[in-house]
Amino acid sequence: MLETSKTLFERAQQSIPGGVNSPARAFNSVGGAPVFLEQARGSVLTDVDGKEYIDYVGSWGPMILGHAYGPVIEAVQEAAAKSTSFGAPTEIEVKMAELVKQMAPGVDKIRMVNSGTEACMSAIRVARGYTGRDKVIKFEGNYHGHGDSFLINAGSGALTLGTPSSPGVTEGTAKDTLTADFNDLNSVKKLLNEYKGEVAAIIVEPVAGNMGCIPPQKGFLAGLRELCDAQDTVLVFDEVMTGFRVAQGGAQQRFGVTADIVTYGKIIGAGLPVGAFGGSREIMQVVSPDGPVYQAGTLSGNPLAMAAGYALLSELYENPVHYDELEEKTTYLFRGMKEVFEHHEVSATINRVGSMMSVFFTREEVRDFQTAQTTNRELFRDFFHGMLTNGVYLPPSPFESWFLANSHTEAMLDETITAADTAIADAIN
Ligand code: PLP
Repeated sequence: MLETSKTLFERAQQSIPGGVNSPARAFNSVGGAPVFLEQARGSVLTDVDGKEYIDYVGSWGPMILGHAYGPVIEAVQEAAAKSTSFGAPTEIEVKMAELVKQMAPGVDKIRMVNSGTEACMSAIRVARGYTGRDKVIKFEGNYHGHGDSFLINAGSGALTLGTPSSPGVTEGTAKDTLTADFNDLNSVKKLLNEYKGEVAAIIVEPVAGNMGCIPPQKGFLAGLRELCDAQDTVLVFDEVMTGFRVAQGGAQQRFGVTADIVTYGKIIGAGLPVGAFGGSREIMQVVSPDGPVYQAGTLSGNPLAMAAGYALLSELYENPVHYDELEEKTTYLFRGMKEVFEHHEVSATINRVGSMMSVFFTREEVRDFQTAQTTNRELFRDFFHGMLTNGVYLPPSPFESWFLANSHTEAMLDETITAADTAIADAIN
């Protein structure tokens, strides 16, 4: 098993840092060689050795209707035949912006970029430019890409300043990022009181997906909205994972809270390299060339990426039944997995929001970074490899969300539950 993947991984390590172009792919959390993939259709991946897997990564989110979705492929082929890039305005960019405005609450204007990282970096710059303030509050365990302002650890005591979590990020940058606890409004209030009138933005994953899936507790997002309103602080929802997935209008719609700026990534390009940030007319008017906050990109609004994203989003917009089906399928998997763990008397907390879910091997309710850490990592590692052997491709870390697609059939979900039964039995014996 994985013979060609292992050979390719050895070769890759000679020429690419760690053998991968993004660290999560290296399987560091679970050990072993990453699976090198050859192709995918719907929810089935085929690796370079010809082995097939049921996919719960979905390219980390965008494959809501499955891989190689027909209308997306056709749209990309048609666009590519006309040119891969113009660096000049095109009609599809206008159509895309209009469609997002119809789907997402609170978005009057939207700017396309090339990744979720860029979207979040730009959102913060816009919030700073709009408010004339420097500081930003983020939440421990939330991920907003690899922009310098986000690679910051919380200080060791309450209200202490952050420290860089990566060499290369300066102390100067770190001092402007404050860290609060997810689902804990008091921790946010304390920071806002301490730095009254200095906080430009609060940025949050409205459903955390990067410490495993953690739903916002009742009142958390509405509470952030109130706190931001009280100090004219910009509320940024990072909907790179939740946008167009947990509802047509993302977490904003699902939880009935409208942010000031919302960021998107991966999904908005159906898996092509796209990100975007949007918000009210008043805020977005500071963005260049309308306003003074500089932001640009040669490949932004790329015609292939726009064509792909438009094909996916328009299908989701026209047929909202996809969301009901996704919800039913994920509930089915949730129940099946729950029964498996109960049957084997394994402590497991399964969190789910829409078609995002995660299994934490712990007795605790998982509601923030600290409680996520109580998961049994060794058990997850063994379970992960058992699932892989049995043909199920899970995210290779206990701290990632699983993503369902509407291409998952009931038979695939049953196969996954059977695989889980075998994998957990092997893991605990
Ligand atoms: N924000 C969230 C919530 C994400 O999950 C990610 C990536 O996983 C990002 C931002 C960064 O996006 P990208 O990897 O496209 O730069």
